[in-house]
Amino acid sequence: LAAGVDPAIQALLDDLVETHRPASPVGRLPDSIPHLADVDPHAFGIAVASVDGTIASAGDAETPFSIQSISKLFSLALALGKDPQERLWERVLREPSGTAFNSLVQLEAEAGIPRNPFINAGALVVTDFLVELLGDAAGSVVGFLRDLSGSSRLAVDENAAQAELTKSSRNRALANFLAGFGNLHNPVESVLEHYVRHCSITMSCRELARAGLFLANGGEGRPGGASVLPAAQTKRINSVLLTCGMYDAAGEFAYRVGLPGKSGVGGGILAVVPGRYTVCVWSPGLDAKGNSVAGTAALAELTARTGWSIF
Ligand code: GLN
Repeated sequence: LAAGVDPAIQALLDDLVETHRPASPVGRLPDSIPHLADVDPHAFGIAVASVDGTIASAGDAETPFSIQSISKLFSLALALGKDPQERLWERVLREPSGTAFNSLVQLEAEAGIPRNPFINAGALVVTDFLVELLGDAAGSVVGFLRDLSGSSRLAVDENAAQAELTKSSRNRALANFLAGFGNLHNPVESVLEHYVRHCSITMSCRELARAGLFLANGGEGRPGGASVLPAAQTKRINSVLLTCGMYDAAGEFAYRVGLPGKSGVGGGILAVVPGRYTVCVWSPGLDAKGNSVAGTAALAELTARTGWSIF
């Protein structure tokens, strides 16, 4: 692969590592998830996967990290691929929330229908949908990601998942609320466990960029395989990523970076340059909304220098 990498992209990524790797810790590490507080705050990695099949990367791009909410993108894609009747969209909306990723407030006002599949409430509904359809929802997301990334070593970090489950009062409350409105069809504890476990999958920037490539490539791009989703579905997922992927910072991210993207509190961000690339950046220090500080800054510089923004 390395032979095909565009030297200009490689030079740009090397430059971004130089500029954006935090010399001293920036932002904060999440205190709600015990394992994530132990990560090196100076870590910074970036990878660009191209629809031509090459991957360029720099910094800590091969270090696995906790993908956290980036898994919501893949659980949604997996669900939509198995849902030709689009029944999922009767249970979750496609509107930006303007509230924190773990907020409860809108659920009551909107009768248990979450605003979108990327806030925790919506992702719990998607997970419930997968439990109903496939049984082992978390295992199916792992399998899907192995398939998409070509990396058979991918797995759930079970210690991290169990530790998070002991601190999941808020997500448990969200799941109970959904159940109270009849929008959860499986037992709360089972859905919560599958959700936390798929959030606890560990992947590197290179693996995530590779796994997301179908979103830049009209649904094609499974290593050596059939298409992942119809092009129309990838267009829709990219739209929801743009409006909802960064929670209550979706507007700010669109303004600064101008790409559909999904963040996680592990410090990763996966962004899509439709028709061309996926970019995955990782640096653990988070801003108040739970998005990587250095990662967002690096993506802003990347689109400013390349013109890769969709706008
Ligand atoms: N597992 C985390 C949670 O449910 C994911 C949050 C995130 O990455 N924004 O709170």
